Amino acid sequence: MKGLMQDRPLLISHLIEHAATYHGTSEIVTLAVEGGKHRYTNADCRIRSKKVAQAMERLGMGIGDRIATLALNTYRHVELWYGIAGMGAVAHTINPRLFAEQIIFIANHAEDRILFLDLPFIPLIEAVADHLKTIERYVILTDDAHMPETQLANAVSYESLIEAEDGDYQWPEFDECTASGLCYTSGTTGDPKGVLYSHRSTVLHTFACALTDTLAISAKDTVLPIVPMFHASAWGIPYATCATGAKLVMPGLHHDGESLQKLITSEGVTMTAGVPTVWLMLLNYLEQSGTGIGCLERVLIGGAAAPESMIEAFEKKHDVRVFHAWGMTEMSPLGTVNTPVRATLGLSGEQQIALKSKQGRTVYGVEMKITDDQGADLPWDGRTFGNLKVRGWWVAQAYFRGAGGSITDEDGWFDTGDVATIDEHGFMQITDRSKDVIKSGGEWISSIELESAAMAHLDVAEAAVIGIPHPKWDERPLLVIVPKEGATVTKQGMLDFLEDKVAKWWLPDDVACVTELPHTATGKVHKMTLRKQFKDYTLPTVREG
Ligand code: ADP
Repeated sequence: MKGLMQDRPLLISHLIEHAATYHGTSEIVTLAVEGGKHRYTNADCRIRSKKVAQAMERLGMGIGDRIATLALNTYRHVELWYGIAGMGAVAHTINPRLFAEQIIFIANHAEDRILFLDLPFIPLIEAVADHLKTIERYVILTDDAHMPETQLANAVSYESLIEAEDGDYQWPEFDECTASGLCYTSGTTGDPKGVLYSHRSTVLHTFACALTDTLAISAKDTVLPIVPMFHASAWGIPYATCATGAKLVMPGLHHDGESLQKLITSEGVTMTAGVPTVWLMLLNYLEQSGTGIGCLERVLIGGAAAPESMIEAFEKKHDVRVFHAWGMTEMSPLGTVNTPVRATLGLSGEQQIALKSKQGRTVYGVEMKITDDQGADLPWDGRTFGNLKVRGWWVAQAYFRGAGGSITDEDGWFDTGDVATIDEHGFMQITDRSKDVIKSGGEWISSIELESAAMAHLDVAEAAVIGIPHPKWDERPLLVIVPKEGATVTKQGMLDFLEDKVAKWWLPDDVACVTELPHTATGKVHKMTLRKQFKDYTLPTVREG
């Protein structure tokens, strides 16, 4: 017997309809690419999204067509998401920090038909346009007054494109499993692979995103996603603000500490989200300038591990609550968020900070487990490391066009490629990417934990640990650090500092200082490049025998 409840498809267009109807005056504020601040309301956003949909139909786009954006976090990018997905096409977000060859690969692989791009990315695309085989036209995200000379085929300004439409448009209804968005993983090994989101997965992820023990977004909030819309959909925030009626603040091009501090304080931001490298810049700026952080209440840190020192700085110095979270492009991206449970409320301040450095508990809708290499489940004791596997309503089942073959086992579990522990209360902690884990004498050393410990040193700006081959132990850790400006860090000083923070056999065999670490297009330390940089390096413990 079937239930008798209304069977309405879960469609992304309902999100913007809801926002415009019930939170129509709630604002979307952007640090505009052309300069100055742009502000308008959810109601304005709905009309312009509908104009996008009309323009796409006029240009012959239909259900399932891929339409690409190479764009920053701005109101225009939000309109594109709703307009493109709303009319049934697929919004393909491209990361402008990728290498040119990767951009060529993914635009051709996706068979994108139109590319919307922000002004700063025109030279990038002009240089590769001859290789972009399927793109019929380019739309520059600006108005005619700011439209530059460009060689790009059929280039028009965004404003002139949508100005021709009247916004009188009925969102079509279709199957909720229809594709809505496409995002390629950065492909640190092999070609990038496309993750194809659906309306259903996106709407369910949106519900989960706003929950109290997830991002706790409400109509009272003002939310600033610094994490880009091209990096795992800005972690779903531009959808969650529509669902809840929160005000949305978009940083455009500006990710430096000073711009962020000004934006946060001037717009009354209560919640913000980004990767650790962004917070390093903001915290440094706050320290140097002695300025405050306004009414900011919560900061979501994900994409890479948040070191304890960063959590402590936000919580103790600035009275801002940290939510450490973990996820991946293949998971839309939310997997876990670190919020307390009754059993952990009684912990001391120090224990709370240590607990917060874990990536947190699973969000309802995602199942997770850790297994050994044979696939057997491992205990949740907070110590045993295993391969982290997930399944759920917003986890990928396959990559676009079948790249990489089957990616789930017969029970539907997806191997994340991360190595983790899970404790008795369900708090998961990433110890490494499986390819970065350091195998020493048959045991594993967590590079992330060592990095977090080293980052607590006052003179360290950034730290990374890699395994270096060792004839006796297989691999031993090398700690590579970027000292803070004007500071020096010695090997002995660092080893003394780490001595009571990690197991003795985890202590790095050497400490190297560099001026800069290589980063990926999504702001993580690029360990593969770092390993290449140190490929001819011999550890002193080997040199000295
Ligand atoms: P890409 O792989 O394209 O850089 P993703 O955001 O999909 O982008 O990367 C997902 C990976 O990032 C995860 O599998 C994990 O290794 C890492 N990651 C994400 N959040 C955290 C976190 N809080 N702590 C440690 N690692 C994280």
